Amino acid sequence: MRIAVLAETDKSEPRVAATPETVKKFIGLGAEIAVQAGAGRASGFSDADYAAAGAKIGASAAETATAADVILRVRRPSGGEIKGAVVAILDPFGHESALKELAGAGATAFAMELMPRITRAQSMDVLSSQANIAGYRAVIDAAAEYGRVLPMMMTPAGTVPAARIFIMGVGVAGLQAIATARRLGAIVTATDVRPATKEQVESLGAKFIAVENDEFKQAETSGGYAKEMSAEYQAAQAELVGAHIAKQDIVITTALIPGRPAPKLVSAAQVRAMRAGSVIVDLAAERGGNCELTKPGETVVVDGVKIVGAFNLAGRLASTASALYAKNLLAFVETMISKETKQLAINWDDELVKATCLTRDGAVIDPRFQPKA
Ligand code: NAD
Repeated sequence: MRIAVLAETDKSEPRVAATPETVKKFIGLGAEIAVQAGAGRASGFSDADYAAAGAKIGASAAETATAADVILRVRRPSGGEIKGAVVAILDPFGHESALKELAGAGATAFAMELMPRITRAQSMDVLSSQANIAGYRAVIDAAAEYGRVLPMMMTPAGTVPAARIFIMGVGVAGLQAIATARRLGAIVTATDVRPATKEQVESLGAKFIAVENDEFKQAETSGGYAKEMSAEYQAAQAELVGAHIAKQDIVITTALIPGRPAPKLVSAAQVRAMRAGSVIVDLAAERGGNCELTKPGETVVVDGVKIVGAFNLAGRLASTASALYAKNLLAFVETMISKETKQLAINWDDELVKATCLTRDGAVIDPRFQPKA
């Protein structure tokens, strides 16, 4: 069985889908591995590191992928020469034609971000592994942009108050942001629409703020995600948090609803009510942003308030993010290798395979992503 690790074609993606550590583990499982030259460079892994772990180095994507049973990537590759099983973050929503192209090229493509959130698949959960890093990085970025210190400091020259940080959306990224902000000494508050988050917020030493009505009590889907809230709920939520935001030094927004644009939680008026020098880091920028004034991919200043809409925060800590992502892939691909024959043996009845496989036998098989007629 041959595994190919391809370099990312998007130059703004510094992560890589395998590390020397996971290369060694795959070889231990009986696989041969080829890594495209330079694939790990931006994550701090050299071709020599991969070669020392036992990988062959391929000069080009085509050479590396030749006769590969499995191709590992961070992002969805474009059709072209890609055949065999492709395991990556496929970003399928709104990209039906790209999926069709992959299917047409003969790829059996697995979307890691659709992995069910069940106990057996926790080690394969790329959304969690990357969101955790992004939540941490959001606080580090906010601290760097903020012109004051985060912890209270009592010095002979005077006392400096602790910064107030408000985290909106308490999933994996939000929880890590709370923990990081607390470690840096800020006064932390947080909000979410899922009731289960209240206890999680409080257990991290932060204060929970939310409209806790009947809709709130039913806002969590069976899959553990948030539902899109009614216009009435959003208005009540905006009123409650509006006054709160005006008193904050840093707001970090992480709110997402699967398959939907990010909910707008911070209005232009609320931004203008913040003190000059305040900072907003919008982790939802890639999905349109939680703040009305976020410019996805940019940092803008509005009336002295900095709004950071950077993409791919996990990629800014590429080495750690890649190490965790590579382990997620290893854990999944390992379930597809036969212990007896050491060959690729996909179990089509496995719920992990069913949930993540989007293309097979030349067609897009997930009805949600069928190309529109
Ligand atoms: P996400 O990235 O989909 O969304 C981030 C947060 O935004 C969520 O907490 C969501 O409730 C919140 N949100 C949505 N709309 C909002 C609004 N209008 N106002 C405020 N907040 C809003 O979420 P995630 O990080 O993927 O986590 C979702 C859940 O899945 C969490 O409960 C998490 O702990 C759970 N989870 C479970 C597993 C597992 O294996 N069992 C693994 C990872 C995560």
